[in-house]
Amino acid sequence: MFRAKTFLILTLTAVAAVAADFSGTSALEFTKSVVALGPRPSGSEANLKQQAYILSQVKLDGCTVSEDAFTAATPKGQVAMKNIIAKFPGKSGKAIVISGHFDTKFYPGRNFVGANDGGSSTGWLLELARALAKQPRIDDVYVVWLDGEEAVREEWGGEDNEYGSRHLAERWRMDGTLTRIKALINVDMIGDKNLTIKKDPNSTPRLNQLVWSTAAELGYQRNFVNESLPMEDDHEPFLKLRVPAIDVIDFDYGLNNRFWHEDTDTMDKLSAQSLEIVGKVMLEVIHRLERQ
Ligand SMILES: [Zn+2]
Repeated sequence: MFRAKTFLILTLTAVAAVAADFSGTSALEFTKSVVALGPRPSGSEANLKQQAYILSQVKLDGCTVSEDAFTAATPKGQVAMKNIIAKFPGKSGKAIVISGHFDTKFYPGRNFVGANDGGSSTGWLLELARALAKQPRIDDVYVVWLDGEEAVREEWGGEDNEYGSRHLAERWRMDGTLTRIKALINVDMIGDKNLTIKKDPNSTPRLNQLVWSTAAELGYQRNFVNESLPMEDDHEPFLKLRVPAIDVIDFDYGLNNRFWHEDTDTMDKLSAQSLEIVGKVMLEVIHRLERQ
């Protein structure tokens, strides 16, 4: 009994040590900076400014940064897009990928700034990179800002979405990177003050299990709830190529998801605490994956 208790205390101390590196306040500040650029659809001036901002910040984290530029054929013609990839090198030869999209949905004539949908993932990934920079690595950890998640048309469908993730999955299939990936964790809409994340049943079951059990151990059962909601998101192109992948998304944004894809998706709906909860859980999940 004594031994078991000591072990538990040591385990919890280790969890706290890894997770403490993530600051929700800092993640919220990063998010505020990109949301201040206004609507940021793929190919827009503000999207380019945002790319420059991400690059300027991530360069401070001592990682290897690469730019994956491509042209996407969309319903509104050819659009220049770019994924941004930060690599924190390990020694095992294996890799863990944490991704999220930075584009916002194109709504001409509106002021859709996507604080949660596009902004939160962008700011959260910047803070994750800052936290990872402080830690020793076993596996390569890639932090990826994906362009072109949103559909150009009003309705989501067919090939008109997930442009950046489809491009990167294909690129990594060609160069062999996919075979090294233990897990891909995609985050989306993770800043809502009322954080309620449901399980995507199409995600890899053992990753759902790992994320939900880690969240429960850290005391976040109220945020990672035991309900299912199938999602189509940037993890799909990787899943289709047999990469273990999970989507971590709070698709319950305001009563009946009423702020989703609306001009009311603004900074006042977000909290540093929600970003921090997801950050702490994911740092611990990365830590555990590296030991598998
Ligand atoms: Zn969206």
